[in-house]
Amino acid sequence: MSTPVKKVPIHLQSAQNRLLIKNGKVVNDDGIIDSDVYIEDGIIRQMGRNLIIPGGTRIIDARGKYVMPGGIDPHTHFEFEFMDTKTVDDFYQGTKAAVAGGTTMIIDFVVPRKEESLVEAYERYRQNADQKVCCDYALHVAVTSWSPKVKEDMATLTKTCGVGSFKMFMAYRDMLMLRDPELIESFKACKELGAVAMVHAENGDIIAENAQKLLDAGVTGPEGHEMSRPEEVEAEAVNRACVIANQVNSPLYITAITSKVASDVVSAKRSEGAVVFGETLASAVGIDGSEQYGKDVERARRFVTNPPLRPDPTTPAYLTEGLAQDNLQVIGSDNCTFSAEQKALGKDDFTKIPNGVNGVEDRMSVLWEKGVHAGIMDPQRFVAVTSANAARIFNLYPRKGVIAVGSDADIVVWDPNRKRTISAETHVQAVDFNIFEGMEVTGVPEYVIVNGRVCVDECELKAVHGFGRYVNTEPFGTFVYDMINEKEKRPRGVARTEAEAKRHAEEDAAIAKAKEAARAAAARANQTNGTHESPKPKLQPISCMPTLPDSAVVTPSTKGPRMEGQRNLQDSTFSISEDVEEARRACIRVNNPPGGRSAGGFW
Ligand SMILES: [Zn+2]
Repeated sequence: MSTPVKKVPIHLQSAQNRLLIKNGKVVNDDGIIDSDVYIEDGIIRQMGRNLIIPGGTRIIDARGKYVMPGGIDPHTHFEFEFMDTKTVDDFYQGTKAAVAGGTTMIIDFVVPRKEESLVEAYERYRQNADQKVCCDYALHVAVTSWSPKVKEDMATLTKTCGVGSFKMFMAYRDMLMLRDPELIESFKACKELGAVAMVHAENGDIIAENAQKLLDAGVTGPEGHEMSRPEEVEAEAVNRACVIANQVNSPLYITAITSKVASDVVSAKRSEGAVVFGETLASAVGIDGSEQYGKDVERARRFVTNPPLRPDPTTPAYLTEGLAQDNLQVIGSDNCTFSAEQKALGKDDFTKIPNGVNGVEDRMSVLWEKGVHAGIMDPQRFVAVTSANAARIFNLYPRKGVIAVGSDADIVVWDPNRKRTISAETHVQAVDFNIFEGMEVTGVPEYVIVNGRVCVDECELKAVHGFGRYVNTEPFGTFVYDMINEKEKRPRGVARTEAEAKRHAEEDAAIAKAKEAARAAAARANQTNGTHESPKPKLQPISCMPTLPDSAVVTPSTKGPRMEGQRNLQDSTFSISEDVEEARRACIRVNNPPGGRSAGGFW
């Protein structure tokens, strides 16, 4: 399927297409530098100080602010038909809320209806989303049954539709759940296609058993939800998924980790060398799950989500610490919003409460408050877990997830001192309550730039209906698949004869030689190509400019077609010819960034 080409109306062009963000501190996941950022036609064109820019360029003064890659929320459910109803945030309202909170890209989940093929479901989502999204988006596709046709569809989606990840459910028995043999087959298919396997990890059989037991005992309220799926039921499934993925050498991304023990499993598996990534959620980091046990039943229902928020009050800080320490790699929102009225579908039976909470709008602020402002993580790590890691895992990097010359101008100018109070009264989302109601957060997106356009302007939302684009997530991303390939070994028995020993030695030598050749090729590519742009840009990057890291270098001969939307720097109508030396002098690396860690003043 080809991506429809959208024309940007004339009134949205010109004045907005050149932008200079001055005097800010640019934060990437690997460092903080003082640098201005010049944007033209949606792309970051220059970085440094004292840049020569054309007249008429709009200037944003970011003094005292952090200039960070816009957030990437890899876990949303907009317009999701689920549990006999549909989420209230559609692709317009949902992405508008994302932008309001500093998120400039979302990845949603295509969940096929019964009797609908994966490709048909994907096409339905594209039709729904393409004309509505306010920021760029991509799609994961859920595999909810197994057959040769499903496998064929996975191949089609990977090869022609820009889908690079598939999600399998280990819970929701008789609805979405796969059993172990199907998990094995689907993980193997992901590996073969170069995709990332994702799982919702909870033991669906145990949950069904527990739920019935609770209902029989007369427990019908929302507390039954958490009681039916205790922490070890989550941790068991996380462990099982890790083992299966490891055995078939498939990469694995665990969505929505809400318990300490599940987080511990991920971190233990990673330390054993498993290629597994753990995602926790804004909800799990922002609040605990005690509200589900509250006396006000209507209120308690609002907090029902899956896996459940845990009543243990030490869990949110533990998960935040996990993000800071790289036990967990990503924070998503699992934004899946149902109104209070929809939640009441489960008033007599907790298993009928539509599962899901908000988070897409407040994810960045909640983590800044609980992580950076609380002194648990630094701004670089904040960028890693809110943006760069998702970009790397889903093969969007360095187009997304980094502020660098050649990358998309998806940027948030973050005021680390400004405060706001989260409330359903003021939020952008369609849902009629907010699980973070009343929480005061320090850290506010003052400007949000989406593809070069200012969509939050001095805290005023100016998101544009349909302005976003569908972005392909290509298979075989090097960040993930280099690790997988490294682990790939042909099964080998004990060498019991001389001939077998000789064959093993020859194989080892061939592997070592191939690795050496790959290293040499990578080194050559690094010498000749300073950025991911190809052909080589006209300008040599200034030495202090954050250019794209070595791992990001794409050698055209070894890769398929260029990522959708990649552009040549020579397309720019403007070039630097002088003052490079001055820019180099002015560009000073900050090793010890002031602000952020404490409530104290900015520099
Ligand atoms: Zn979800």
